Amino acid sequence: MARKKQFKAESKRLLDLMINSIYTHKEIFLRELISNASDAIDKYYYEHAGHVSPDEFSIRIEANKEARTLTITDNGIGMSKEELEENLGTIAKSGSLAFKEQIEDESKSDVDIIGQFGVGFYSAFMVAKDVVVISKKDGEDMAYRWQSDGESGYTIEEAQMDSHGSQIILTLKENTDNDKYSQYLETYELKELVRKYSDYIRYPIKMNVETSKIKEETKDSDKPEYETVIEDQTLNSMVPLWKRQKSQITQEEYNQFYKDHFFDYQDPQRVIHFSVEGNVSFTALLYIPSHVPQGFYNQDYKKGLQLYCKGVFIMDHAEDLLPDSLRFVKGLVDSQDLSLNISREMLQHDHQLKAIAGRIEKKVLSELASMLTKEREEYEKFWKEFGINLKFGVYNNYGMDKDKFQDLLLFYSSKEQKLVTLNEYVNRMKEDQKEIYYVSGKDVELIDKLPIVQTLKNKGFEVLYLCDEVDEFVMNTLMNYREKTFKNATQGDLDLNTEEEKKELEKTKEENKDLLEFMKESLQDKVSEVKLSNRLSEDPVCLTAGEGLSFEMEKVFANMPG
Ligand code: ADP
Ligand code: MG
Repeated sequence: MARKKQFKAESKRLLDLMINSIYTHKEIFLRELISNASDAIDKYYYEHAGHVSPDEFSIRIEANKEARTLTITDNGIGMSKEELEENLGTIAKSGSLAFKEQIEDESKSDVDIIGQFGVGFYSAFMVAKDVVVISKKDGEDMAYRWQSDGESGYTIEEAQMDSHGSQIILTLKENTDNDKYSQYLETYELKELVRKYSDYIRYPIKMNVETSKIKEETKDSDKPEYETVIEDQTLNSMVPLWKRQKSQITQEEYNQFYKDHFFDYQDPQRVIHFSVEGNVSFTALLYIPSHVPQGFYNQDYKKGLQLYCKGVFIMDHAEDLLPDSLRFVKGLVDSQDLSLNISREMLQHDHQLKAIAGRIEKKVLSELASMLTKEREEYEKFWKEFGINLKFGVYNNYGMDKDKFQDLLLFYSSKEQKLVTLNEYVNRMKEDQKEIYYVSGKDVELIDKLPIVQTLKNKGFEVLYLCDEVDEFVMNTLMNYREKTFKNATQGDLDLNTEEEKKELEKTKEENKDLLEFMKESLQDKVSEVKLSNRLSEDPVCLTAGEGLSFEMEKVFANMPG
């Protein structure tokens, strides 16, 4: 007997939660096991691209009522001994962790949570009192058998298996008053579950099904006789979600697909599903997450879309499909025009890929534009999470792309006391106003207290408050919008005065000439000029920056590394 090993502490807690869960959605275990089988086949397929054909693969379900076992078999990549240990002995990174966090948050422990997560392999223990995994890694001679009751740890020992792949054998729990675990041995129930959760899986999910058929030799008689035969049936339609008609797909299906494939446990904010026919034909299923993904600002965050060719998975994170400014977008592209055994290096130079990337960028930006005009509140939610990426979009490529982004930008406005677009600002500029005024600072409250801001507001001008470090770079890159230049109101002269006010100022200056000169001399090189100004409404003096760098930008530069 192999030595029993303990689960890692984290896994143990998750298992406890799973096993003792009172959730009604225990049935999702099947979806999870099938999706793992499909992933394993994808991996095998990718490793052997060009040498295998998709129809060599299948996922098989087998129910044995006497033994109370349900077996799911795949001919995918398989797992080595180390991988069995690593993958099944440790908590899975993705869905399971998020699931655990939510489920432990008492306030949210209402009944439906489980359906929202990709909870992975461990979900098997919701319905099984014993799980055996027999697996043979592609290219290895020896197979291994992992076994666990989910509570007291697991064992791994050597085993036999004809070819690469995995077999998951569940021994179902005894029925209780609330849970009829035997239902998962019934053909109609299994068929139903596959249709409900795994229909789009691209490999056939097969099962031997008993059906009643007319006996061949009695076919033409008046009294046809029936016989029971075993038929090998494929339970899923194998049409991937993105290949189905948009009108036939529910929001729920889109959301579930997102959560299963892109490691999020919240619904996405937006789904963008479209096809393009032409020089390059492709279908894209894109998602805008509803919140900043974990690790998004880490160096090792991987942007990119999944790439499929004729429905077959090619790679994760195809970077070239997404510009940096849209790195928050998740999703996939399926094209019939790419060659299947395309290598990663080749991908980088593929002009078809570039063409696809261009269409994708255009589409996402136009969706955002339409959200901005039609669903302002939704857009502002989006902006709060991801707006900064669009700001970077403005000055990526040395500002070459600024036109794509300028109408999607939002800034806080003194007049509206909320976010406004540049277009809205320019539309209500005063007749004699020549420039777009902005002031940068740490936050709205601080900027609002600045004397120059008060003056501008009193004179009826609108000011944009820039609170992000990048904002001023954005303004400098844009330079102007609808022929109005941007003007940092704390910098240099603002031509705010009427002719009369100017004359008045000139007069006062003349009268105070000696005083000003005296002040300049006393302050020496601490200031470059001492001026009289009517830029102040309540404060007696203020420092302003000259025409070069503004104070805020100087701070940004001072904080830059190197
Ligand atoms: P996830 O699928 O989100 O990674 P799971 O808990 O479902 O998490 O699975 C954990 C890991 O176990 C998988 O990432 C995979 O490496 C491995 N695994 C599970 N089932 C199989 C299988 N049928 N064939 C090969 N590897 C598998
Ligand atoms: Mg999984």
